[in-house]
Amino acid sequence: MPPVAGRVEPQGSLADFIWFRTGGPAEWLVRPDTVEALADLLAALDPDVPVLPVGVGSNLIVRDGGVPGVVVRLPKAMARVSVEPGNRVRAGAGAMGITVASAARDAGIAGLEFLRGIPGTVGGAVRMNAGAYGRDTSDILVEATVVTRAGAIETWPAERLGYTYRHSELPAGAVVVEAVFEGTPGDPAAIGAEMDRIAAEREASQPLRSRTGGSTFKNPDGHKAWALIDAAGCRGLRRGDAQVSEKHCNFLLNLGAASSAEIEALAEEVRARVKAHSGVELEWEIQRVGLAQ
Ligand SMILES: Cc1cc2nc3c(=O)[nH]c(=O)nc-3n(C[C@H](O)[C@H](O)[C@H](O)COP(=O)(O)OP(=O)(O)OC[C@H]3O[C@@H](n4cnc5c(N)ncnc54)[C@H](O)[C@@H]3O)c2cc1C
Repeated sequence: MPPVAGRVEPQGSLADFIWFRTGGPAEWLVRPDTVEALADLLAALDPDVPVLPVGVGSNLIVRDGGVPGVVVRLPKAMARVSVEPGNRVRAGAGAMGITVASAARDAGIAGLEFLRGIPGTVGGAVRMNAGAYGRDTSDILVEATVVTRAGAIETWPAERLGYTYRHSELPAGAVVVEAVFEGTPGDPAAIGAEMDRIAAEREASQPLRSRTGGSTFKNPDGHKAWALIDAAGCRGLRRGDAQVSEKHCNFLLNLGAASSAEIEALAEEVRARVKAHSGVELEWEIQRVGLAQ
């Protein structure tokens, strides 16, 4: 491991903070102090060493054997949010979606409200093309600053990310460090009301205070994944302490002592049952990383 300005933890725990609270450690868990420190590290690191950026793990299964190589978490210094002319918000990739939506509301910028309901970081949203209520990150992203696996700091226009539904072409090992979003002029009170509506709807329909990973599967064309899962009889299905949520069938839960292997196996069982019942092949939305034990 080359020297790096920042915090470096060998065998750093990921289960401590990712939403499911399961899975093995990172071989090296690194919190670089600055973008430049991150770039220097990636430039100096043997190109064969894998690099995985993580946000808060709200769409992540970390397998029980842990993650080889370097896992990058962004520090608070890379979570700053500021408003710029042209109805734009510039956000460090470590900032939470709700912080970005709130800054936009305060500045009278409409169109970013949906980020209120997505409990992840800006980096995760840019990578996943996160979205809700008919809007996706690709609709509001102007550009993203990325540290490439080779250690170059580059600003990419949104088009370069090759967005489709819950997918980007961000290369493996590239770390998003900042993003610029653009909305339209709006009334802060109306924007705030829409954010409150989103929060209330989420509360009613999703297991927000549980150990979960958000939507397990993408919605197939013309279908809702949760409805296919429900129709296949999987609501409440259990494997050990892993369970299909009763509240929202496309969410899996860790009831307490589940392993990542149990969660992943339960999801594969759901996939097989849905295929047998409706003929539809569900595609994973949750990112699965690391090695099985
Ligand atoms: C209760 C709940 C509700 C949710 N609702 C929605 C929803 O409505 N819509 C939706 O789209 N998603 C939803 N999700 C899923 C999740 O919040 C989003 O996918 C979010 O964008 C993930 O952000 P994160 O920071 O947690 O990323 P992580 O889960 O940590 O990582 C997800 C992926 O992004 C990559 N990544 C993370 N940070 C960076 C970075 N800085 N640079 C490059 N790559 C990075 C990781 O390598 C990984 O591949 C929900 C999740 C939960 C738990």
